[in-house]
Amino acid sequence: MKKIGLIASMALLSMTSVFAQNRSEQNHAERFEQLGPMLRTPNVYRTASGAPGHMYWQQQANYVINVELDDENQSIKGSEKVTYINNSPDQLTYLWVQLEENQRGADSNSPKVAESSISNRMTLRTLEGIIWANEDFGYKVLEVKDAKGNPLPVTVNQTMMRIDLPTPLKAGDSFTFGVEWSFNITNRVGYIAGRPGYEYFEGDGNYLYTMAEWFPRMAVYSDFEGWQNKQFLGRGEFALVFGNYEVNITVPADHMVGATGVLQNPSQVLSSTELERWNRAKQTYDAPVVIRTQEEATELEKGKATAKKTWKFKAENVRDFAWTSSRKFIWDAMAVKQGGKDVMAMSYYGKEANPLWGQYSTRVVAHTIKSYSSHTFDYPYPTAISVEAANGMEYPMICFNYGRPDSDGTYSEAVKNGMIGVIIHEVGHNFFPMIVNSDERQWTWMDEGLNTFMQYMAEQEWDRNFPSRRGPAHKIVPYMRSEKNTLEPIMTNSENIIQFGPNAYAKPATALNILRETVMGRELFDYAFKEYARRWMFKHPTPDDLFRTLEDASAVDLDWFWRGWFYGTEPVDISLENVAWFKLDQRTPAEKAADAKAEAEYDETNVSRTANMKDVPQTVIEANPETRDFYTTYNPFTVTPADEEAYKSFMASLSPKEKELLNSNMNFYELNFKNVGGLVMPIILEWQYTDGTSEIERIPAEIWRLNETEVTKVFAKKKEVKQIVLDPLRETADIDESNNYWPRQYQPTRFELFKGSGAARGASTGSNPMKRAKNN
Ligand SMILES: [Zn+2]
Repeated sequence: MKKIGLIASMALLSMTSVFAQNRSEQNHAERFEQLGPMLRTPNVYRTASGAPGHMYWQQQANYVINVELDDENQSIKGSEKVTYINNSPDQLTYLWVQLEENQRGADSNSPKVAESSISNRMTLRTLEGIIWANEDFGYKVLEVKDAKGNPLPVTVNQTMMRIDLPTPLKAGDSFTFGVEWSFNITNRVGYIAGRPGYEYFEGDGNYLYTMAEWFPRMAVYSDFEGWQNKQFLGRGEFALVFGNYEVNITVPADHMVGATGVLQNPSQVLSSTELERWNRAKQTYDAPVVIRTQEEATELEKGKATAKKTWKFKAENVRDFAWTSSRKFIWDAMAVKQGGKDVMAMSYYGKEANPLWGQYSTRVVAHTIKSYSSHTFDYPYPTAISVEAANGMEYPMICFNYGRPDSDGTYSEAVKNGMIGVIIHEVGHNFFPMIVNSDERQWTWMDEGLNTFMQYMAEQEWDRNFPSRRGPAHKIVPYMRSEKNTLEPIMTNSENIIQFGPNAYAKPATALNILRETVMGRELFDYAFKEYARRWMFKHPTPDDLFRTLEDASAVDLDWFWRGWFYGTEPVDISLENVAWFKLDQRTPAEKAADAKAEAEYDETNVSRTANMKDVPQTVIEANPETRDFYTTYNPFTVTPADEEAYKSFMASLSPKEKELLNSNMNFYELNFKNVGGLVMPIILEWQYTDGTSEIERIPAEIWRLNETEVTKVFAKKKEVKQIVLDPLRETADIDESNNYWPRQYQPTRFELFKGSGAARGASTGSNPMKRAKNN
């Protein structure tokens, strides 16, 4: 502790500026500058506030589709009538249509641009992916005709098809065309592992189909991108147009079909018992009603119907349409009240998924709708379906999920929680990007990051102790700590990301969670996030619209946050470098003199003992009168009348407030912080006092605005401090917590004791026991 003299109140307050003068010349760059030109120029379509502009427009595509599933040969053939409405102010000479199925075909660029190498152990699946003998896959038949049945000129470039229009499509006009197609369905759990496909069940010889990206779909033409016709390589997902769908699906008569939209002809495709149960489910709000039971489904698995049934669905204002079909399906459903309307929460699953799915799936669907609605807008669709399909993928109103017990029906907590997590996630995607319809081909994080953040909240609302994989700040630390050459900013195209999950899911989810909990607070964040969801519901937002809206609705300048978390790769590592403790000097001249004398005598007796210690100030030794001749005539410990007079007049000059401060016995702690990681963040401190109490103090990130690398700040505390902890609740994703303590706390790095198979082997190779243990 050091004593500081009270000269004038101004002297105390200027301490930080004294330090500020010592900072180096280039201590701040642009971390707190506005994003400015990094964002799109606002216009009549998108405002500077982040809202749709007064001339906002978007295209529309309506579909009437007939499709037939061939369960013998695992193929489909379909025909569609597409009505494309040009709401843009532009005249279009051609249309672009997406053909994702070609990504699985022989000419696909996907295997060509995939790096590969041979290792000692290769799986058959990996080798098949390299050989890519895919002549049977991709679109087989593809005929495009105008409304009168005349062929239209088309150019197929990989996964994109250009239709050249007979006459330019004027602003406000629409164009109707038809497509006929067929393709062989791929094995979803095989080497062309993809979102759609079939899974074959050896035990009963049946197939389960999840049909997605299964029809030629309109690409998006927008004010910010023109045609989004970037090729589909398998990762960067979809950019799709809203529209209305009428889809007729013909399948074997013993199949159960689930799809986007509302079933139009239940009495034609369901048995009378099933119909009765379905109608009961629509009135049941407390538990799922099983419409096709496990016993009934298992019985159906034994035969193969030759007759067919056509399931008719309608869906309004959706950006896509997916469906599932199998004779294996058990089906349950319950009604959920949401925003004054009923939503049917439903699940389709094979017996392999029970008892887990019957117990949880539909209940989790219902929970997800409620949780997400509370943070955004009321779920606007009439149904929400979860299908057990050994993968996880989302579509409007329907999604495919995983989570199967062992064959004896038992399951671990991990399997159960994995299943609950994936259902929340995929059902949650209805909000982002199915309704808040961002461009997935360009920005994976805009739906995955936002959705993973929402998933985290929904999981914690499901169970306060839910072991959420992503969301809490400390969980992103291993990624933030990883090698610089494996990191890209979140603002990176889907296809160009090395660590995909951490970059596009976990980091943006964590960033939003930090915004909510630490930077903005729940009240400001929740309002602004809701505003973003409401503004862009059933529209096409860009990242700028999100960044701008969150600031616009909260009065929190977040440009530094977007720069650091979304445009940068630096991690957070704030170090509490130094702490100095000061007290105001309250002593009279006589007390000061006595203290100085005692100090000198102490030094005299201890100087030889302490002489070797580096920290004995030289001034103390020099001031020792016994060792300096010129001191012998002068006693520094005598208080002169001048000293007394100066003290008296100083005390008399103090105002009552100044006197109160002088007598307050305040402790002043001067803390010095270094920004080691680079990413600026708020400084969160826990003060632990000697009386056993503690308090948390939060300093906004703007403390770094004049010096991004080092700041010093003085804190006045009535109590004496025993310990200071930086980021005590682990809110900032600080990658090195060893420099977060004063006094420093050293924590052991754990290593594993590894028992090798031969005594000499481990020692002679000198290999890392941790690595070897992992590889075994
Ligand atoms: Zn997702």
